[in-house]
Amino acid sequence: MIITICGGGNAAHTLAGLLSSQTGIIVRVYTPFDGEAARWQEGVRTTGGILVDTPTGQRIGRPQLISRDAEEALSGARLVILALPAFAHEIILQAIAPYLESGAWVGALPARGGFDMGAGAALSAVKAAQVTLFGLQTLPWACRFERYGQQVIVLGVKEQVDLAAWPPAQAPAIAARLGELLGVPLNPVPNFLSLTLADTGQIIHPGIMYGLFHAWDGQPYPTQLPFYQSVDASIAEILQCMSDEIQNLCTQLELCSPGLDLETVRPLSEWMLRSYRAAIEDASTLQSQFNTNRSYTGLLAPMRPVPGGFVPDFQARYLTEDVPYNLLVTRTWMLLVPRSCESYAAVSLNALAFAGALLVRDERQLEAIKRHGPMNVLPQVGFAQEDA
Ligand code: NAD
Repeated sequence: MIITICGGGNAAHTLAGLLSSQTGIIVRVYTPFDGEAARWQEGVRTTGGILVDTPTGQRIGRPQLISRDAEEALSGARLVILALPAFAHEIILQAIAPYLESGAWVGALPARGGFDMGAGAALSAVKAAQVTLFGLQTLPWACRFERYGQQVIVLGVKEQVDLAAWPPAQAPAIAARLGELLGVPLNPVPNFLSLTLADTGQIIHPGIMYGLFHAWDGQPYPTQLPFYQSVDASIAEILQCMSDEIQNLCTQLELCSPGLDLETVRPLSEWMLRSYRAAIEDASTLQSQFNTNRSYTGLLAPMRPVPGGFVPDFQARYLTEDVPYNLLVTRTWMLLVPRSCESYAAVSLNALAFAGALLVRDERQLEAIKRHGPMNVLPQVGFAQEDA
């Protein structure tokens, strides 16, 4: 079986090492981003394969091909796995669409929110109908590559993970085969909406970042803060409130749509125990489930070095991936802003711009906005009414 892994980060390293260590599996890696294919090839040449250090031992595997060329990387693949942050899904799906074989399984680890809709748009309706889409609720591992293209550390393995598919009837077959390949039990769930709502990244990452840094005074911290181990009672309360909101939303959606099954969208604490029960020393509170989870040991908050210490990195994946850019939410209304592109005149314009906050990084960007005028800039990243 030929499996193509799309991506060049932590998850892609783990998958490439684990899958290519298995007999009968040919692994190809497609990574067009930022010179990664060349660096990864160099790494594999040095060590002879990718070493995966897991809590239960070492595995080593060597992909047959690592390439930035979609055609050669996708040729003959029956299973295509996107191991990427959500903001890269559509970019990669557009690049691989012409080379996807009819009947292939194409999915994301993890899917995050709205993967089925994004994939449908990126692949075109015809291509999307020729493949089976799937997504996992989360990545089965907490992992970080140690040396690029050479070694990855798996800090923890989740005890089970949910999987959705389109068409939904395919979910049990994909869960069984993929679960076997990954060595993690996968539970088929009835719909992709369950994955969108059960995306714990959208609770945990922005919730902890807010808790840690909302009162930051602008001064550097002497050291980089732990991330999950920094969850205190007040941060746990923030996470609990976010989880409760999603549970309320599920209740309302099920009331409005008889037959809709969102049972697998679990409260955060229940998800922690299903995913990590054996790794958690003290399961008595949500706070202790984070603080005493061995799989999270050593993971640090995204911060960057500056003279005198470290400052929060608000451009890190924990925010850029996990906060929905196109959505404005208040207690009384929500506004979804369809955008045709991410920026204009090099100024990034997210949904906040449509609420009047055009955020610039420097004088040059400020001048560009002044020159064009804010009301002329907004239509450049939006859609005309009839297209929306
Ligand atoms: P990562 O930050 O290591 O992935 C970065 C990679 O994504 C890059 O190396 C590149 O290959 C690709 N990429 C980034 N921007 C791109 C762009 N603009 N165009 C094309 N490719 C681009 O991420 P990861 O740790 O491998 O995580 C992958 C997914 O798994 C994410 O959704 C993450 O939230 C989730 N996740 C990761 C972990 C973990 O422990 N690593 C745990 C739970 C969930």
